[in-house]
Amino acid sequence: MKIGRALSATGQLIWYSTKDGSAFREWNPDTPSLGRVVEIEKLLAPVLPSKIVAVGLNYRDHAREMGLTLPEEPILFMKPSTSVIGPGDDIIYPARSERVDYEAELAVVISKECRNVPARDARDVILGYTCFNDVTARDLQAKDVQWTRAKSFDTFAPLGPWIETDIKDPHTLAVQSRLNGEIKQSSNTNNLIFNVFALIEFISSIMTLRKWDVIATGTPSGVGPMVRGDEIAIEIEGIGTLTNRLA
Ligand code: MG
Repeated sequence: MKIGRALSATGQLIWYSTKDGSAFREWNPDTPSLGRVVEIEKLLAPVLPSKIVAVGLNYRDHAREMGLTLPEEPILFMKPSTSVIGPGDDIIYPARSERVDYEAELAVVISKECRNVPARDARDVILGYTCFNDVTARDLQAKDVQWTRAKSFDTFAPLGPWIETDIKDPHTLAVQSRLNGEIKQSSNTNNLIFNVFALIEFISSIMTLRKWDVIATGTPSGVGPMVRGDEIAIEIEGIGTLTNRLA
């Protein structure tokens, strides 16, 4: 099942559920139940997380590409909730950057408040999975020790198009990015250094995770720059495609 938030044709903010992205039904996130069929005007970011916890350097192919040794522990950073945009929204090129990159990532959406979750129980706190673009001002990242500036501009966290709740194994999914239709990244989550369940154990041993929080699991090889007017699409097998334009 795919679930998320949208603007209805009558201009209301609704939660929806859909099987294949064609027919949408109202859905209640508190007492998960299906409602009437509803017409959608625009899909929104499927959740508004209290935080996005992101992982740097978590694909073997990306580490090889950068000539870096594999990390012994996950490298974490955060993106603010204010950087989230939805499918079809514009990524705004910051005036102070001269290089803005796409990063295709599998995102995990947390289903309930939790702490100290062992990897073997991680499935119990996962609502589902969605596509994420960890947009990065690469020139500013290279200048700074902390990556907060480079990762946190408004619109630097495209999320969506929806949350897929039926993925049994998150570690066999093809991950792709396409810039103006041309394939730039093409990998598989079987290249993850720290898998989804290990990440939940590690992160939840540091901080409380809340319902709707998002974990961005890192990007594979092939990252690169975008210019104004570009269209960037992130597609993950079994989930869907998240498309945004650079303005
Ligand atoms: Mg990233």
